[in-house]
Amino acid sequence: MAQLISDRRDVDFVLHEQVGTVEYEKFAEFDKRTIDLIVTEARNLAIKEILPTQKLGDEEGCTLENGAVKVPESFHRAYKIFKEGEWLAMTDDPDWGGQGMPKTVALAASEYMIGANPSFMLYAGMTHGAARLVESFGTKEQKELYLENMFSGKWGGTMLLTESDAGSDVGALITTATKNDDGTYSIKGTKIFISSGDNDLVENIIHPVLARIDGAPVGTKGISLFLVPKYRVNDDGSLGDFNNVECIGLEEKMGIHGNATATLALGQKGESIGTLLGEENKGMSAMFVMMNEARAFVGLQGFSVASASYMYALDYAKSRIQGRHMLAGKDRGYENVRIIEHPDVRRQLLTMKAYIDGMRSLLYYNAKCLDIADGTEDENEKAEYSGLAEVLTPIIKGYITDRALEVCSHGVQVYGGYGYTKDFPVEQLMRDSRIFLIYEGTNGIQAIDLMGRKLNMMGGKVFENYLSKIKETIANAAKIEGVEVLAEKVDRVMVKFEKLVEEIKERSKAGNVLNVFSFAHPFLEVTGDLSVAWMLLWRASVAAPKLLKKAGSLEKETIAEKAPKNKDVAFYAGQVQTAQFFINKIIPATMGKMDAVFEGDTSVEDMAEVSFGSK
Ligand SMILES: Cc1cc2nc3c(=O)[nH]c(=O)nc-3n(C[C@H](O)[C@H](O)[C@H](O)COP(=O)(O)OP(=O)(O)OC[C@H]3O[C@@H](n4cnc5c(N)ncnc54)[C@H](O)[C@@H]3O)c2cc1C
Repeated sequence: MAQLISDRRDVDFVLHEQVGTVEYEKFAEFDKRTIDLIVTEARNLAIKEILPTQKLGDEEGCTLENGAVKVPESFHRAYKIFKEGEWLAMTDDPDWGGQGMPKTVALAASEYMIGANPSFMLYAGMTHGAARLVESFGTKEQKELYLENMFSGKWGGTMLLTESDAGSDVGALITTATKNDDGTYSIKGTKIFISSGDNDLVENIIHPVLARIDGAPVGTKGISLFLVPKYRVNDDGSLGDFNNVECIGLEEKMGIHGNATATLALGQKGESIGTLLGEENKGMSAMFVMMNEARAFVGLQGFSVASASYMYALDYAKSRIQGRHMLAGKDRGYENVRIIEHPDVRRQLLTMKAYIDGMRSLLYYNAKCLDIADGTEDENEKAEYSGLAEVLTPIIKGYITDRALEVCSHGVQVYGGYGYTKDFPVEQLMRDSRIFLIYEGTNGIQAIDLMGRKLNMMGGKVFENYLSKIKETIANAAKIEGVEVLAEKVDRVMVKFEKLVEEIKERSKAGNVLNVFSFAHPFLEVTGDLSVAWMLLWRASVAAPKLLKKAGSLEKETIAEKAPKNKDVAFYAGQVQTAQFFINKIIPATMGKMDAVFEGDTSVEDMAEVSFGSK
């Protein structure tokens, strides 16, 4: 079977022709040649070492025996190679063992590796998130004790928030922290659904745990963050006794079987000793700082898996022979054709491509915003670009993962009955992709974040800035031969969208909260659609002049004749045609979705509970 994850030509297009990378002194060594080498290396690692573990990990799953968790056997070799290649801390500070790469470049490497096996990469992803918490909020001692071992992948990391009665409402958690005379804390409680919660890939696991110090206020204001290692760490860095973070169960799940989703009991058979990370009662604000990164990671997970599904479906559609061509009529003389020749299969493939292309660009744009915010010395620019990333975060987590599942479903459909079987990878990709809509704040919570917080951040200025970036792309596209009409159409969406934003703000001011939030998810959807239209229009604006130059004309006939013989003509024409498809065939539905919000229908809040039905 072909080994496919991401389209390298498209990755290169986004990195070098469309979104681009940043050029700060600190990233000086990452020139085009180096970037290309990194992406090639990551792609090789993903295809040769990680991808073979995908199906094996799904079949074998994780096991818990006598308190010890075992990951799928095949993960060990892949993890060793991944660790030795120093891939875990691509973007991090070289002083702590990181590679100091721009986020855009690391993203290119990551999309291959995550697309190859999201369950496997979740071990590294959780470790990275936990290490970033230590780096951001740790004392000198905590950093020295933990960071290098975490960034190298020798030790793992997790994130312990969820409890049985504290899921979306983290503030309801009841895990306690009691201060000891030596300044440490004894942590007691049970955390559930912990990704990579226990495993035998690493020598130790550092758990950032949210807990409530005795006597702390109720709700999120009384939550603190602690570092609780699986094995205590002596002052010289050597491992001490088991710290009583006990795995008492593993979830049996729909997907990501290779990742151990653990129930962890702390301080129940003996003391679990932790140290405070950051300040007392400021645990939630620390988590918020890391949230954008964690949510962008989940968006990337969704995208990468969907991208793999698209690549498989495309490959299959080009080889599977079934049925006669539409134009064959009743003439039995026609030979059967490859399914890519059927309009409905092409429609699905183009839908998949449009979302994949748009989402890839959006993810890289977000990474670039973060690189700018990180690299610039100009405070205004820093605020502008971190603000943009704030707005993009719920779109990336919420909208991208919603669409990723849809893309994966198309992937199954393109394969027909075979897609529903375990004989082909699209079945697993669809199951694996389902979790991305749930963890790290469900997509319902993302929609609330976009409408409730991001729309009004700094008096609405941050959101206005996001819209102004879209307007810049539209204005530029309006001047480019071959995309002017598309620019005009996206402009019409924009005008309507801005009115919608005003309408929502008016309704919020009028205090009709239940009605406003009943439209939160549709609003996330239209904002996401607009963002994809923006990215595709931008792509088409870059591609059209190059297409004109390479093909000599933008006439359909010329392009149809030259595309099969010239890869660049084919690629750039594909960019313009994909934008055209999305803007002409998908965006009209977005306009309709906006009408539904304008309508302000009250059925969601009016419907009595009993009217939903009874037993
Ligand atoms: C495989 C897996 C891995 C996970 N990994 C981790 C991990 O590493 N660390 C960790 O701490 N947690 C982890 N989680 C937990 C995950 O983050 C939670 O499951 C998720 O936040 C939802 O919480 P819940 O399951 O309690 O659902 P609930 O909060 O009960 O939500 C149920 C439904 O109600 C909706 N809902 C709830 N409250 C609201 C509201 N205020 N407004 C609108 N809608 C609402 C939700 O959107 C959802 O649709 C993981 C979960 C799974 C399944």
